[in-house]
Amino acid sequence: MPPTLPPPADMQRALALLQAGQLVGLPTETVYGLAADGLNPFALRQIFAAKGRPVDHPLILHLGDAAWLPRYAEPDPRAEALAAAFWPGPLTLVLRRKPGVPDEVTGGRETVALRVPAHPVAQALLWAFGRPLAAPSANRFGRVSPTTAEHVREELPGVFVLDGGPAVVGVESSIVDLSGPLPALLRPGGVSAEAIAAIVGPLGASQTVAPGTLPGHYAPRTALRLSHRPDAEAEVARAQGLTVAILRAGEPQDHARRLYAELRRLDALGVDLLLAEPSTDAALGVAINDRLTRAAYRAPE
Ligand code: AMP
Ligand code: MG
Repeated sequence: MPPTLPPPADMQRALALLQAGQLVGLPTETVYGLAADGLNPFALRQIFAAKGRPVDHPLILHLGDAAWLPRYAEPDPRAEALAAAFWPGPLTLVLRRKPGVPDEVTGGRETVALRVPAHPVAQALLWAFGRPLAAPSANRFGRVSPTTAEHVREELPGVFVLDGGPAVVGVESSIVDLSGPLPALLRPGGVSAEAIAAIVGPLGASQTVAPGTLPGHYAPRTALRLSHRPDAEAEVARAQGLTVAILRAGEPQDHARRLYAELRRLDALGVDLLLAEPSTDAALGVAINDRLTRAAYRAPE
């Protein structure tokens, strides 16, 4: 399905808001982002306030294309190779920062995370704006990420949203850390670890835990459990008097695309328990299972 393009007047309004240091709900191929001028500390602080996000969780800078990278990060031949293979697309690179990248973006670190999104609306806005956009997922901190404009309006009423249709990947970008001697996967996502390793060689275990990658995240309000046998488990739970809904796996691309929308829909049913069938343990399935595991996490009492 080709992406929906918003009317030109909406693009103009979004541009004016960004130029004024305000926030815009932005469609990308991964999930909807909450975009702000990536070089304006005032604008960046609006992101943390709107999401309720801890200020030390760094943000990803979105660029128009790979030629923008040397303005914000030290060039790296591995980054060039990965960018040539996967940009525009769902891959984020962590590199040593150049001066001038605000601390609000980096969380005060010496590194910066960069990505070139593929969605035509994100592309058009980035090129019209001419500066990087910081754009974490447009949800309240810790909650399920939005994959439609309507989800963003539910999560963050009052934020102007560009409608670019449903997100086609459906889970966040993969994050590769290139700031150390060995490339490391900080977060599984839209590009598989196998595909990344085919370009840069084996991926080390991450030396730094990706800041903000918490065990509990992407969480519905309803209790969620992973289950390889959801029908049998549902029967047991129902016999105990519980109401249950099942989120079924399927072909991984389709599963990823509907994952967050189904989590939202099932969460709204008000049942006692959600049973989520895990995906396969390869390629995009790794990202799906990562998100489901975090959605299932309950802090120890
Ligand atoms: P999101 O909230 O989906 O936009 O993802 C942002 C995530 O990117 C953060 O929570 C970190 O895990 C990761 N990240 C961003 N900047 C950095 C950085 N400089 N170093 C390591 N991880 C980063
Ligand atoms: Mg997020």
